[in-house]
Amino acid sequence: MKINGDRMLSDMKALREITDTPRSGVTRFSYSQKDQEARAYITRAAESAGFTVRTDAIGNMFIRFAEAALQAGEGTSAAVKNVYSETKRIVVGSHIDTVRNGGWLDGVYGVVAGLETMRTLSEDGTVTLPLELVNFAEEEGSNFGSTMTGSKFITGIYGEEELDKLRNDQGVSLRKMLQRCGFPEYKREEVVWDFEQVRAMLELHIEQGPVLERKGLSIGIVDVVYGMSVLEVTLKGVGNHAGATPMIDRRDALTAAAVCIGEAERIAKEDPERDNGSYSRQNQRFCLTVPT
Ligand SMILES: [Zn+2]
Repeated sequence: MKINGDRMLSDMKALREITDTPRSGVTRFSYSQKDQEARAYITRAAESAGFTVRTDAIGNMFIRFAEAALQAGEGTSAAVKNVYSETKRIVVGSHIDTVRNGGWLDGVYGVVAGLETMRTLSEDGTVTLPLELVNFAEEEGSNFGSTMTGSKFITGIYGEEELDKLRNDQGVSLRKMLQRCGFPEYKREEVVWDFEQVRAMLELHIEQGPVLERKGLSIGIVDVVYGMSVLEVTLKGVGNHAGATPMIDRRDALTAAAVCIGEAERIAKEDPERDNGSYSRQNQRFCLTVPT
């Protein structure tokens, strides 16, 4: 079975045009006018394929095979009718919001790929997988300064409190913004997922690094995600007379910082897996020796 590559590409190109910064990457913050236009585009594409579209209180979008599409499959209609009720669903998708002047494929590729997969299966009449396409809202966090906002609500990490706490640059609360967009009122039980009902989540995403290209590979499967952490380190030295203090008695903070920086680089580069673009777990424990 083959997807319709031209159709998929034309969807992605159409979404690329929905931007606040034409000819300068794609800028489409969640809940903005352009975001609404992009949502409308996806909704139209999904509905014309015969799928149902639902949006939760946070603006996360969910697309499923509808009864009409399920019955299109010859001889399989009875089985596919119950495709969602008898098995755990398989979630596919990503996000369509972007950072300022972002790339046109980030997120969109995953959403459109999911849509194209569903269209292909539906047209082929083999709607036997309980697929659900999701577009996570405010994934980039460009609007409210908190990344993966939509999925944080889905997991229940965020709730009622964050609706008022999260504010954008103009001081507008997330709750107010969601109301403006016309999304349904927040009810925890309608937003938080029951993960017992989810078999898997698949996201097709462009590689944002050079490894696949260097290795000549067309696809890779992510088995580990960086747990990025940012540390602020203060190194305190001792000030003294430049001319009168012998080198051996100096406590120069900048020198110590230079050693720290060099060591961090060395430890990361010594990792046997560095060429794969991943670092082994043992290197999560940095051990720096700084001369005093
Ligand atoms: Zn992304």
